[in-house]
This record gives sequence, C-alpha cells and structure tokens, in this order.
Amino acid sequence: MGGLYIHVPFCRKKCRYCDFYSVTDDSAIPAYIKALKREMQIREWDAGPFDTVFFGGGTPSVLPPGRVAEILERASLIFGIAPDAEVTLEANPGTVSQNDLEAFQQAGVNRISLGVQSLDDQTLQFLGRIHSAFEARLALDWAMEAGFDSVGCDLIYGVPGQTRESWTKDLEDVLAYGPDHLSCYILTIEESTPLGRALERGEFSPMDEGRVGELFLHTSDFLESKGFLHYEISNFARGREKACRHNLHYWNHAPYLGLGPAAHSFLEIGRQWNVSDLEIYLAMVNAGRMPMEESEILTEEQHMLEWLYTGLRQAKGIDAGEFLRRFDKAFLDIFGPDWKRLQDEGLARESSQSFALTKKGMLFSDGVCQLLANRLE
Ligand code: SF4
Repeated sequence: MGGLYIHVPFCRKKCRYCDFYSVTDDSAIPAYIKALKREMQIREWDAGPFDTVFFGGGTPSVLPPGRVAEILERASLIFGIAPDAEVTLEANPGTVSQNDLEAFQQAGVNRISLGVQSLDDQTLQFLGRIHSAFEARLALDWAMEAGFDSVGCDLIYGVPGQTRESWTKDLEDVLAYGPDHLSCYILTIEESTPLGRALERGEFSPMDEGRVGELFLHTSDFLESKGFLHYEISNFARGREKACRHNLHYWNHAPYLGLGPAAHSFLEIGRQWNVSDLEIYLAMVNAGRMPMEESEILTEEQHMLEWLYTGLRQAKGIDAGEFLRRFDKAFLDIFGPDWKRLQDEGLARESSQSFALTKKGMLFSDGVCQLLANRLE
C-alpha cells in the first residue's frame, strides 16, 4: 500500500525562515476543500488504497476538525483507507485549543505532529513563529491528553545565539512531556525568505558549520541516551513502531499520491507535482483538469539516485539484496572504490546485508550522495 499526502496551503502568518508554499488569506478554505474533493474524483484511478494519510502544509490545523473528518471520509470512499492507517496532521501551537486537538482525534487523526520548533521565546521570535513558548507548552500538554496514538514534535536547531546548553534544555523540556517522536531540523536559511534577506543585510551571523555539526552529533547521542531511535537524519522515535510510517513510504519508494497545491506524487507512472498557486489550482480543478504543473518518468539512473538519497538518509541504509534485485547489479560493483574511501574516512559503514552512513557521514549526506552519483554519469 502507499500514502496519501494532502497539502493545506494556509498559514496565519509566514515564518521568517519558511519557503514552503502557503498563503495567509484563509478566506479560500471552503473553495479549497471543495476543489480537494473534486481533485480526488479526478485522480480516482491513479492510486490507493492507502495505509497512511498525511495532512501537511502550510498549517493543516487551521482547518476546522469537522472538515478534516469530511476529507478523510471522502478519501476513504474514493481510494480506500486501511482500518489501521496512520493518519497524521501537522498542527501549529498558535492555532489550536484543547477542544480542537480532541476534535481532530475524534475526526480520525491518530498521529499529531506539533510544530513547536523551540521552547525558548527569543528563538521563536527570531524564527518569526506566531506562538510563544507558553502556548507551545500548553499545546504539548493538550496533545498528550487528547488520546492520539502518537504525538510528534518538530524542533529547529542551529539558530544564531543558540548554545549546546540552551539546545539541550529545549530537548529536555520537550522530553518532559513524553512525546513519541521528534523531528530535529537544522535551520537552513534560504535566500528568498525574510531571514535570508536579513542575513544579506548583515543583521545577524549564522551559526558556523562546525558548531552545527557538533550540535547534530550531540542531538543524536543525547536522544539515544534517552531511549530514542535515530532512524533518519532528522528523525527520532521511541522505538521502531513510533517511526512516521508515512515518511518511511517516501524513503522506501512506496507509491504516494499528493493532493492540493504544490503537492508531489510518486506513482508507478513517475513523479508529478501540482501547481504552486492556489488560484490556478482552484481554476484548473474547477474546470475538471488535473492541477499538475509537471511530471517526469524516471530513468533507471534516476531511480538509482533516488535509492541513494533516500536509503542513505536512514540509519538502516540500503539493503544489499534489495538493491541487487531492483537494479540487477551489486552495490559495490558500481560504487565500490568510492564506498571504500568513505569507509576509510569514517563516513560509511558496511555489513554483509546493508550499506549505511555513520552519524558523521549523515552530516555530509548530500556531499556523499553527490560523490556516489558521479559514478552514474
Ligand atoms: S507555519 Fe510552517 S508552513 Fe507556515 S509559514 Fe511557518 S514554517 Fe511555513
């Protein structure tokens, strides 16, 4: 089975670091929901049934819980959703009340992912979040009590001014609530964002790469010492069963269908992505057209690249047998000399069954994949 991704393109206010597609005027929510249901009909035969559903954004928690229930019901009718499906909704602590969280749970959401980012007010202000640390703490409390099967938390580190001590305190404070899953992302500053422009004006200095690297290794060691499994570069779970099944679909090449503006799909026929503009999306769907911006059919080389980038993100790495079955070539026959070099540098490790990066290697995973990708040219 595969996954269904639903992009909810509304946010109360844009965060300073964000380059995801979303709009701040939520008056189009009713039109968006109508179009989403229509898009399901248009794509009825393209995918499904699903065993994971993920409401991502944007800020899915701006949707009324009743509308989330409607969307799930419609998706279930059209595509089929497994009875034990993982249903995740991303929630911003600045947009939810205790009642909302309980209502999302009753609507069929069984996994909530809270965009806490930090429990330090100064950091939250720097990031331009709409909520305070106090509101994030309240949301954490409510989420833990609402009856979800799993509560996850997104955090950001590598923020200017942050120290190892202040970041560790953030982690400790969040862990005190007992979440099942943590996604810890390194702050990336894109040129096109308000933060990128502030950097260009010299308003702050980014944390230097060496210190960010130290924080990455510290985060991994610290969370492992608290019983978390570091199963993907940025992701930690209290045991394998609490890992995000939807994201595992992405990294393990399962098919997924993306609905809504800017959503991406990966299906047997190839990769497709929707237009990143709400108005154009609404116009196309209302005219009965697929709101697709582009699609591509992957070559064998592109599939192999995909395996490198997604497999080496994960602690389990690339399974040697699966690679051989999929590509009819042994991993070491293609990447042998480079892999040996990476092992000598302490960036890669190998067992009889798999090829994976060390923690240090994960820190440089893009560069490592680029090096291996050169073999395919
Ligand atoms: S809430 Fe999320 S999607 Fe919206 S602007 Fe902030 S980071 Fe971006």
